[in-house]
Amino acid sequence: MAHGNWDNLIEQCKICNVCDLASTRTNVVVGVGNPKSEVMFVGEGPGEQEDLKGEPFVGRSGRLLDKMLAAVGLSRKHNIYIANIVKCRPPNNRDPLPAEQEACINWLRAQTALIRPKIIVCLGRVAACRIISPDFKVTKQHGQFIKKGETLMMGTFHPAALLRNPNQKPQAFADFLELRNKINDICTRTELIYEDV
Ligand code: SF4
Repeated sequence: MAHGNWDNLIEQCKICNVCDLASTRTNVVVGVGNPKSEVMFVGEGPGEQEDLKGEPFVGRSGRLLDKMLAAVGLSRKHNIYIANIVKCRPPNNRDPLPAEQEACINWLRAQTALIRPKIIVCLGRVAACRIISPDFKVTKQHGQFIKKGETLMMGTFHPAALLRNPNQKPQAFADFLELRNKINDICTRTELIYEDV
């Protein structure tokens, strides 16, 4: 990957004001992780903590995500990249509007074009509906891998939803185990690393 392209993308995204969310954000939350990863996670958008810190999935749901990742050898520090459909926080944590998603999706497209992940995992309904299929039902279709172009895609529960409905955690964890199997099958550069979080 040409670093210039990646650095340029980050720099430009951080000053984007293409949609109205620019006026209420604290930070643009571009993404976090290793841009050379073969596995990419996509959520819907920053919440309050993410907006303040400028990093996706921090706070309680981020800690849960990090624990689930660590259990299958994945970590934002080493071997995955995490981004969102919209890079600026929708006020009061509402879902990003279709127009906001449309305005922001080109940033995600640019990130994906540079990273070229083999697997994309959508965290929650908004991301799965936008990326996998508009009628995606997380409770019914979670954990199923679907090939789109050269990329395998899978939708699973959003960690914030798991905090609200802890009874869904075993299903989500099973999805992460399936993900690990898939990584072992098709990824050639992803070293799984088991460390405490
Ligand atoms: S949400 Fe996306 S399109 Fe809108 S201002 Fe932020 S970075 Fe730009």
